[in-house]
Amino acid sequence: MKTDARVVTRKTPEDFAKMTVAGACVAAIHAATREAAQPGTSLRELDAISAEILRERECRSSFLGYHGFPATICASPNEVIVHGIPSDYRLREGDIISIDAGAIYEGWHGDAAYTVAVGAVPDEVAKLLEVTERALWNGIAQSRHGKRLGDIGHAVEATARPHGYGVVRDYIGHGIGRQMHEAPNVPNYGTPGKGFKLKAGMAIAIEPMFNLGTQESSVLEDGWTVVTQDGKLSAHFEHTVAITTEGPKVLTLPEPKLVDELDQVDV
Ligand code: MG
Repeated sequence: MKTDARVVTRKTPEDFAKMTVAGACVAAIHAATREAAQPGTSLRELDAISAEILRERECRSSFLGYHGFPATICASPNEVIVHGIPSDYRLREGDIISIDAGAIYEGWHGDAAYTVAVGAVPDEVAKLLEVTERALWNGIAQSRHGKRLGDIGHAVEATARPHGYGVVRDYIGHGIGRQMHEAPNVPNYGTPGKGFKLKAGMAIAIEPMFNLGTQESSVLEDGWTVVTQDGKLSAHFEHTVAITTEGPKVLTLPEPKLVDELDQVDV
């Protein structure tokens, strides 16, 4: 059965349990690729490591073959914002690398991304990574029954504002479940109290992408690789989050985690 992508689907606890297995697989890919992201490691090697973990955990890649995407993960170094195709490029000291991984377990998806520095990077680069990750958690903290998408988008965007980062608008988060990309769209900008109302049973992927320069992006000739127009660095963090009656539950961790309101970072 094909799901109508415009319909916001509601999940049962059993559905969330399957997404949790997919999410744990994604977390394992994150841990292994983070450890391997050292000077001299090629992006293709990171892809192979990820494929092996999917096999071990009886999951499939959400990305491989998605509209013809040719690899297991997206590997997006430096000025690449998202959708980088793992190549023979070898990481160098001072690079940053974004890894986006999606897993399917018994038909259910988990999707998450992180950016890590390869060796030492300047303070302003470390700050970009730290603030982008904080924006993700600030967005997650708003992912509650009765809140609206504008609350999430505002929390994300407001985290970037004091730092003057370009907040990418061309690529956004999404609902997730039996399809990797479901309704609703989850933008990284918004007005508090506006937009689609969140309900327990929904699952969304929140994924801020912040640039050291402008928000403007271009797609390379391969049809996938999205780069910053000014060539400046870009960071990307993402988690799959279940909206539950107990609060936001992050599914793309080794163990799912309920985010208590006390965990909310200042916006
Ligand atoms: Mg995503």
